[in-house]
Amino acid sequence: MINTKQKILVWIRRDLRLKDHTALYQASKDAANIKLVFVFDYHILDPLKQKSTEDHRLQFICESLAELQFRLAPYKSAVLIRYGDPKIEIPMVAQEQQVNAVYWNRDYSEYPRQRDAAVTNELMAAGIQVQTFQDHVMVEPDTLLNKEQKPYQVFTPYSNAWRQSIGIPTHKTLIANLEKCGDVGKQPSSTDELLKFCGFKKTESILKGGEKEGQKQLDIFRTYISNYDTARDYPYLNQTSYMSVYIRHGCISIRQLVALAQEQDSNGADVWLTELIWREFYQMIAYHYPHIRTGSFKPKYQRLEYPGSEEHLEAWKQGQTGFPIIDAAMRCLNQTGWMHNRLRMLTASFLCKLALVHWRRGERYFAWKLLDYEFASNNGGWQWASGTGCDAAPYFRIFNPETQSKTYDKEAKFIKQYCPELEHLSAKEIHNPLPHLRGHYPLPIIDYKRHRQLALELYRQVDQ
Ligand code: FAD
Repeated sequence: MINTKQKILVWIRRDLRLKDHTALYQASKDAANIKLVFVFDYHILDPLKQKSTEDHRLQFICESLAELQFRLAPYKSAVLIRYGDPKIEIPMVAQEQQVNAVYWNRDYSEYPRQRDAAVTNELMAAGIQVQTFQDHVMVEPDTLLNKEQKPYQVFTPYSNAWRQSIGIPTHKTLIANLEKCGDVGKQPSSTDELLKFCGFKKTESILKGGEKEGQKQLDIFRTYISNYDTARDYPYLNQTSYMSVYIRHGCISIRQLVALAQEQDSNGADVWLTELIWREFYQMIAYHYPHIRTGSFKPKYQRLEYPGSEEHLEAWKQGQTGFPIIDAAMRCLNQTGWMHNRLRMLTASFLCKLALVHWRRGERYFAWKLLDYEFASNNGGWQWASGTGCDAAPYFRIFNPETQSKTYDKEAKFIKQYCPELEHLSAKEIHNPLPHLRGHYPLPIIDYKRHRQLALELYRQVDQ
């Protein structure tokens, strides 16, 4: 039992907000004095730095942390900022601050689970209590089982069970008493100071980090959520919510988003809720089926040998495949860290089912580039597109880039944004320009019809 005179340390991780934060709210109920801490984990950051010290995600995280510092300043408080191994840093900060307990919100991915177990052991050995809370998901991965008492493998029954299990909750925002946040001395506070502290340089990111920016983006989406079911497939409309990165870093609580979807009486809102359920479905899959980290969900596809070349992989990465919709999408990813869902499906399908490059190579590239990178959703998306996943597109469903381009970017508005060398062409010409109209734009790196056939043969061999 926690004594209300006690001090509690709240470990902020992928929940960069003060509002509707379960661990913080509980701490403010249970303790007289709260301290907050965030650790830049060198296991994650050091390998990133070797690739580049400009990183959209670090920019986003630092902007989000800077907002926390700004909002805590009136209480003469701040989040303690550390760089290192959380297994060492958290017990050390807990001892320095002489807290009796450490609270945090649960994370279900593999590495955080191992890390949290190790931190718990250290804290317990030092006589410090640990309490963890459900916050990142509406339904925790080990909660729902099918009729055979096994984890689900198919989305629709999972989604039905998910909806039934949460019902229509009445959402009450959790407001922590920030008066209880104590003085922690001077900490890196501005975005620039935070970036410098963790060893990264300033860069621009398409979406600004923080709770306030997330709310602003959500308020925009609220005005067109009812059209989501029809508008969501057209990249040039920009009418998806852009919430993935705010959810990824916890700038917005998932309870608030689900409440928004449920309080609206429209098909758009209901389809959007289904997307939020996909996120939890893939987290559940990653939790119960850890073999997806190293292989196909369906073991038979493990035998697939993709013959695609390094040159084709490189052309795909650089947006130089000669297929305008694919190239525009990849250039958008490279320039902004963002890609629309339809384009993620399309570029992923192109890489593994037409260029015949192993989907793992694409998964890895997205993991490096995406602002909203999340292992479970990214792996789920790639295994879906490659046909190797749990509830995936069948192997013979191969997107035709030209048809997709004509359907979802009819006027070529999106393509022209990222392929300026094709700007002079009419919308009709741009989807698959004739060779003499291409100028400096590359010729297609593959022949669609022939490679489609090759893919079908390749998959058929292992699909017996
Ligand atoms: P909206 O369309 O507004 O959807 C609302 C929310 O639902 C999203 O923010 C996201 O949290 C969730 N969601 C939507 N679609 C999916 C989906 N297919 N799977 C899981 N959750 C979903 N999403 C990530 O968050 N991180 C990733 O690393 C990621 N990698 C992907 C890789 C591939 C190959 C594919 C096909 C999809 C991937 N997605 C990933 C899913 C999806 O593309 C993004 O969540 C979505 O485009 C984000 O834009 P939004 O927030 O405007 O989405």
